[in-house]
Amino acid sequence: MTQVYDRIALIGLGLIASSMYWAIKRAGLAGEVTGYARSEGTRDTARNIGLCDRVCDTAREAVEGADLVVLCVPVGAMEQVAQDIAPVLKAGATVSDVGSVKRSVISAVAPHLPDNVHFVPAHPLAGTEHSGPESGFAELYDNRWCIIVPAGGDTDPEAVTRLRSLWEGMGANVDQMDADHHDLVLAVTSHAPHLIAYTMVGVADDLRRVTDSEVIKYSAAGFRDFTRIAASDPTMWRDVFLTNKDATLEILGRFTEELFALQRAIRTGDGDHLFDYFTHTRAIRRGIIEAGQDTDAPDFGRGVPKT
Ligand code: NAP
Repeated sequence: MTQVYDRIALIGLGLIASSMYWAIKRAGLAGEVTGYARSEGTRDTARNIGLCDRVCDTAREAVEGADLVVLCVPVGAMEQVAQDIAPVLKAGATVSDVGSVKRSVISAVAPHLPDNVHFVPAHPLAGTEHSGPESGFAELYDNRWCIIVPAGGDTDPEAVTRLRSLWEGMGANVDQMDADHHDLVLAVTSHAPHLIAYTMVGVADDLRRVTDSEVIKYSAAGFRDFTRIAASDPTMWRDVFLTNKDATLEILGRFTEELFALQRAIRTGDGDHLFDYFTHTRAIRRGIIEAGQDTDAPDFGRGVPKT
């Protein structure tokens, strides 16, 4: 793989940035990668594990001379970071981010950037429930989607192509989307499901007091998956819901209506409604497998969990 940028700066050194660093190094996509994290503890950890060629004590020092700067902080922190680094950005550099919400990040970041830099937001659809600099790994983006969301119609095509090459070099499949469409799609596929998982685990925790840990002891795959999702970083997800408010509320509204309909069917003994509904959702799952987007293996091919 050939080098895509001479120097890349990663601001924020958690799961997403550290995985980017290892994937960039794996494929030799940059001459040098600098990094910055807010707390001294995170910077020390990064230095100890060899994360980044150079870990800097300020964001400004990290971005100086960088051809690509990637903001890898929680969505709610993007604006403050953009404001801080704006005066030292190299002319002609590209600024990108990895935030899970795009419209609010564009609104928060774009006004602070000088005219002589390109702003090309992106969102890798890959992650785990772990966070911090030690949670990253080079394979995180392999065969996963990264959505590039150009901030405006006049975004330099060359800057977009280069960023695309970087994500492809890190193993991702790249697609392009408008910010509002991205936020709606992600509200359906990721944001609302996370909120439902958080809620379900909260409800089960209440019950646990009654059933004396049976909820955990006998948790089958469905609930186990909820607990994994509900272990995701609280700061990140607080920011996602506060910044993708409209799309998430729209999807939750629809979800609640469907849930009420199912609730009514259970109460009135309307087995036909339940059967038809589940037949329909089962067909959706089959469609996903036929489209080659997921495995057909039982429980996603995971082995039997240790008890
Ligand atoms: P993470 O592991 O929690 O790391 C976040 C990093 O941001 C840490 O280095 C943290 O520094 C820094 N940070 C936090 N608040 C900050 C602030 N106010 N100012 C400056 N730096 C701050 O998070 P992550 O999972 O890598 O997520 C980073 C971004 O990627 C988020 O915008 C998220 O929406 C997006 N994303 C996440 C996933 C996922 O599944 N995790 C997937 C796709 C996209 P300290 O350690 O010093 O506090």
